Amino acid sequence: MSIRENLEQIRARMTAAARRAGRDSESVTLVAVSKYVSPERIAEAVAAGQLLFGENYLQEAREKISQLPPSLRWHCIGHLQSNKAKLAAGLFHMVETVDRIRLARLLDKHAAEAGRMLPVLVQVNVGREPRKAGVLPEDAAELLRELAGLTHLEVRGLMTMPPFFDQPERARPCFRELRLLSENLAGKGLLGAHGPVELSMGMSGDFEVAIEEGATLVRVGTALFGARS
Ligand SMILES: *Cc1c(COP(=O)(O)O)cnc(C)c1O
Repeated sequence: MSIRENLEQIRARMTAAARRAGRDSESVTLVAVSKYVSPERIAEAVAAGQLLFGENYLQEAREKISQLPPSLRWHCIGHLQSNKAKLAAGLFHMVETVDRIRLARLLDKHAAEAGRMLPVLVQVNVGREPRKAGVLPEDAAELLRELAGLTHLEVRGLMTMPPFFDQPERARPCFRELRLLSENLAGKGLLGAHGPVELSMGMSGDFEVAIEEGATLVRVGTALFGARS
């Protein structure tokens, strides 16, 4: 299957999942996860109409972004070390993986220096995995209160990466928990100041379930580009 055919199938599956949930298919956006994917193959996805990509690794992202058209949009979806905040603030249109105030302060400082606003998501560890990045659900409100004081970050919503399950249905409670958390936080006035709340959740194996549970951004790599070698 070509990247174009994969993309068409993913889009059709996204639309069907949105319909099942009574949602507008326009309310869900595909982030094409392009880690380890060459600029040539990313360009194939671009030719098929995909303009938004997600990258995990800074050096790799920088290299590829410089080789591709400036009209593309890039999300940082990987764990970000604080010493990479400056590079990230200059490179990405959104950082989906803010999970601590120290990192947020650095991103804010560098966005301010660059004279721009940086949209971010707060990454939540809903599966409570000890070794996984993300703020614990019960600590999200406090982090959001601190983020509200940062003038060059726009907190657009939440992101999560549930534990690995071989059956997509098993991830459903995690997706639902993220949505309920976002509603709770929006009710407290801690989310939603910059437009509709974004929920980044769902990958190749479970993006349809995530859409049924309210995802507005799905991060899909393997189903689009094939297995990463
Ligand atoms: C790699 C990655 C994805 C994409 O995973 P696939 O299973 O290949 O679709 C999504 N989100 C994050 C954070 C990733 O690191």
